[in-house]
Amino acid sequence: MKNFNYYQPTEIVFGNGRIDELGKIVSRFGKRCLLVSTPPVPALKTIYDKVKSILKNSNLEIEHFDQVQQNPTTEIVTAGANLAKKFRAEVIIGLGGGSSMDTAKAIAVETTHEGTSWDYLFYKKQPTDKTLPVIAISTTSGTGSQVTQVAVITNTKDRNKSAIYNSIIYPRVAIVDPELMLSVPKHITASTGFDVFCHSFESTIHPGTSAYVDTLAWKAIALVVNTLPKLLKDLNNIELRSTMALADTLAGLCIANAGVTLPHGVGMAISGLYPHIIHGESLAIIYPAFTRFTYEKAIPQFAQLARIFNTDNQNKSNKKAAASACTEMDKFLIKIGMWFRLKDFKMPGNEISLLAKNSMILPDYKNNPRIATNREMLQLITESYSL
Ligand code: NAD
Repeated sequence: MKNFNYYQPTEIVFGNGRIDELGKIVSRFGKRCLLVSTPPVPALKTIYDKVKSILKNSNLEIEHFDQVQQNPTTEIVTAGANLAKKFRAEVIIGLGGGSSMDTAKAIAVETTHEGTSWDYLFYKKQPTDKTLPVIAISTTSGTGSQVTQVAVITNTKDRNKSAIYNSIIYPRVAIVDPELMLSVPKHITASTGFDVFCHSFESTIHPGTSAYVDTLAWKAIALVVNTLPKLLKDLNNIELRSTMALADTLAGLCIANAGVTLPHGVGMAISGLYPHIIHGESLAIIYPAFTRFTYEKAIPQFAQLARIFNTDNQNKSNKKAAASACTEMDKFLIKIGMWFRLKDFKMPGNEISLLAKNSMILPDYKNNPRIATNREMLQLITESYSL
């Protein structure tokens, strides 16, 4: 077995009703907290009111920044950081899906450092321990951001989606309370649930995977494959929501310790150019082309995946089972309502080569078992456009 390290500094507080412990948790880090979320649409307003009342009952001072959007931009982070500075925030609470938790992490950096969050991307200068502590409260089962050192942000001017990646932004505490996820609408449940699948599967084929990560990842994959289709027919089922919340957290631990591959690099480029395409959709678009491009270079993992999707693949050779994973994957995407082509989102056909070029900006494609050349990437994007 190959040697490995495993690092996870985030304390995970998991379970129904655990949000009630928020006041005590935040008090450990400061008195003045900035709550970061998307706007208070009716489904979320109830959650925001509850969270604010819990914080007030612990005598904490709160400012609420509720301007986060899906695929959050550098401008949104700056607006939040300006508010945090004015309020002299001591702790930042990200309440929501990945967009809110990532914005909270980026605000924690921008509030305490020169320049903007965009100056602290993974390949630029790095944030220091002046960064404010972050508490993450996940309300979707998707990104695993509550347990990762990643904050994904979009620079609208450059049409570029990239990430801060540094251990200093691991949330100090993650509250994963499945009751907060009951209101997630069907399409967001499918899209975020598929992201959990992608994190787990891409971790198993990533060169940085390990026996520890694999154990978590294969558990998470089985949970998503068996639970997500049922949950989409029974959105109020708290047991199914809890199972997806567990899978999401396991998958987050996987990406924090291994990483993602080609689909995520392409997905980031898709949403960077077309911010109306949400993260899970961007991944679903590329998966059919990605599986066919990759499976021969990761036969054991694709074979194992095919057998989880369909027990009929048990008796096939690894090679045959791995090939079947591609069609099983297609069937799964169709079953969860996530079968999309780029054309469906009105992407201009004349930007295919630009998207292919941008898909090779992040290093994720280099961590794929088969590394695409420029020409192969163009082919993958062309296939994902309309075939
Ligand atoms: P999201 O945070 O954008 O939320 C999607 C929508 O669901 C929003 O409109 C939000 O208001 C709504 N919503 C959230 N919780 C809800 C609830 N309980 N009830 C009703 N509506 C609710 O979606 P996401 O997929 O969780 O996050 C996507 C972002 O996270 C992307 O920018 C993606 O790139 C990033 N990401 C980050 C990491 C990481 O490790 N930091 C990993 C993967 C993806």
